[in-house]
Amino acid sequence: MLCTDKKVCLRSVVAWAHVLAMHHVAAVAADSAEVVLPRRIILVGGPPDGHPPGTHEYAKSVLLLRDHLAGLPGAVETVVVETAENGWPADPAAIERADTIALFSSGSDRREQDHPLLVGDHMDQVAKAMARGCGLVTFHYSTFAPNRIGPRVLQWTGGYFDYESGPGPRNWFSRINTWEARLEPATPDHPICRGVEPFTIKEEFYWRIRFRDDDKRLVPILKTLPPGEQEPQTVAWAVERNDGGRGFGFTGGHFFSHWQNESFRRLMANAMLWTARAEQPPQR
Ligand SMILES: [Zn+2]
Repeated sequence: MLCTDKKVCLRSVVAWAHVLAMHHVAAVAADSAEVVLPRRIILVGGPPDGHPPGTHEYAKSVLLLRDHLAGLPGAVETVVVETAENGWPADPAAIERADTIALFSSGSDRREQDHPLLVGDHMDQVAKAMARGCGLVTFHYSTFAPNRIGPRVLQWTGGYFDYESGPGPRNWFSRINTWEARLEPATPDHPICRGVEPFTIKEEFYWRIRFRDDDKRLVPILKTLPPGEQEPQTVAWAVERNDGGRGFGFTGGHFFSHWQNESFRRLMANAMLWTARAEQPPQR
């Protein structure tokens, strides 16, 4: 098959990736005849949610990650990164053309409409994107979701913070705490773990995340041992859906300063590229 300027034959992608010593293109080959470049990543930053400066810095995080991705070697040919810093892209076309949508925003435990998926017709926009194989990323607070959309979130990203199914009076099934956490890559050969070394950060993590029972798609990406737990808990995970779309969730991200941590930054950049089905350029 001849390649056009806009399209890169799978053969070319494989060759390019091998040059860069990448090993996961086989996953792309399994379910996609060709990868159209550049891949489009939309980073959605929610409005301020009342947390103190230095925490829940959604707009700043989106701009920082955009610039980081743009600076990766090979990024110019591989990805286009769009941002929406005030809650949702004004033009729905940004969602329609996205290859992955990443939500840096509030969740829904206090008020459902604080979650961007639960505003207006956003759920319908995202459902259409998911149906064509678009990726979806939830980060920290945006992992909070009500059970009424739980089945769709489980289908799209694999897990969510369940604040409704636990014991009273608060009813949280999932847990939250802040501590000096040691993070271990749970599946080191997964593309999202590439270049991510074990690292330690003081972070507000959520765990006991609601996952599907026996979800064969679910891949743990990062684990940590929270205070009071006997077993390490999954705080970052990934799924590849039957339709080829990919999802990722990470419950860290409370503190803006963590973007200075190389492993944290690589994890998030890798997750954007993997869910967009763009194989990773090498990272600095
Ligand atoms: Zn937080």
